[in-house]
Amino acid sequence: MTPFDRADPAPPATGCADTPPVLRERGQHAVFCGLTGIIWLHRKMRDAFFLIVGSRTCAHLMQSAAGVMIFAEPRFATAILEEQDLAGLADANDELDRVVDRLLARRPDVKTLFLVGSCPSEVIKIDLARAAQRLSRRHLPTTRVLAYSGSGIETTFTEGEDACLASLVPEMPATKAGSLLVIGSLPDMVEDQFARLFAAMGLEDTAFLPAREAFALPAVGPGTRVLMAQPFLAATAKALEDRGAVVLSAPYPFGAEGTEAWLRAGAEALGVSPDHITAAIAPGKARAAKALASAREKLAGRSVFFFPDSQLEIPLARFLAREMGMRLIEVGTPYLHRRHMAAEMALLPDGVTLSEGQDVDRQLDRARAARPDLTVCGLGLANPLEAEGLATKWSIELVFSPIHGFEHAADLAELFTRPLTRRALLAHAQD
Ligand code: SF4
Repeated sequence: MTPFDRADPAPPATGCADTPPVLRERGQHAVFCGLTGIIWLHRKMRDAFFLIVGSRTCAHLMQSAAGVMIFAEPRFATAILEEQDLAGLADANDELDRVVDRLLARRPDVKTLFLVGSCPSEVIKIDLARAAQRLSRRHLPTTRVLAYSGSGIETTFTEGEDACLASLVPEMPATKAGSLLVIGSLPDMVEDQFARLFAAMGLEDTAFLPAREAFALPAVGPGTRVLMAQPFLAATAKALEDRGAVVLSAPYPFGAEGTEAWLRAGAEALGVSPDHITAAIAPGKARAAKALASAREKLAGRSVFFFPDSQLEIPLARFLAREMGMRLIEVGTPYLHRRHMAAEMALLPDGVTLSEGQDVDRQLDRARAARPDLTVCGLGLANPLEAEGLATKWSIELVFSPIHGFEHAADLAELFTRPLTRRALLAHAQD
């Protein structure tokens, strides 16, 4: 069931050794599960198919989250576990093999098939990793079969992408060459913009994970320098480090400032001179600064409260505080990976309240008491808060939208100005 609630008995605590201090909460969560990532991943990897091994609930979630599927050839589906599977009366592995054989016979264009685990498949302990090995042996070299978990028991919604990309890493060919690898699913046009910028700095071989064709994986090795385009990829980063790659520390490419620092970190690690980088990024940086000016007029001085949801909260809060002049009341994040967030946390304003994890009722009380001008939260919380008169932004929209880089800095800002403008118009109409 999603969004789902889960309880963790560990008591809340304030981390006194943290800089800045972090309020750690371990209570009820209100989040979507990792299956949701399929919605943007299937658009990115054109030769991939996502087969969810789950229940009707999982199928309903995917249908309502992705809109009604009317494509002739959809690239995800749910293999429904029926009651006899759940009761252990049928061999789910035999059934799965039959479904996969049928699917691949009908869809020879599928080059990578992901078996995606769910709560039901984990409850009845279907070993999807082993099933993927067995099916790969049967279907390679035409189709590679991999497995990962999108289960709500273990993941929040962006962790689905992390688990998916991590499953690709062992398949990547080895290399000793020095190269830049950008990780995180980006819309094609954003990927092209970054590729052009790196090429202008002499880094024509910059690779992206996931690639548009999932079967054509980039190489990895001790010379690989990894630049994270999304902050929620801890497992993928760790898997790449295990292959010898070095993960670079940088802010994330949101807003003009974050994009510049991110591009510099990648290019400098590959030996590009600071002057060369400055020249290559100057036009984009100037365009972004100009485009952001009008959004700043609308956002400066306004307050914002982030509920933990997408794991993008800290980089976005940094952008809103430093470039848009907003006041941060609380920045909640589901998990805080200190190493991957170090460059971002160094840029946060003094005195900001960071919270990790969630105790949703306590956090709602804090938001109600603070009455922020804008609340960034999941879908489940947005409607009740709107009904209480708070302007909200759905955090999931920030994952679907092109918001990275210089060319989309203003689009990112606009996602935050829009709810405020809408509320102002409504108030005006009611006067
Ligand atoms: Fe619900 Fe779990 Fe299926 Fe997600 S994986 S839709 S949380 S049952």
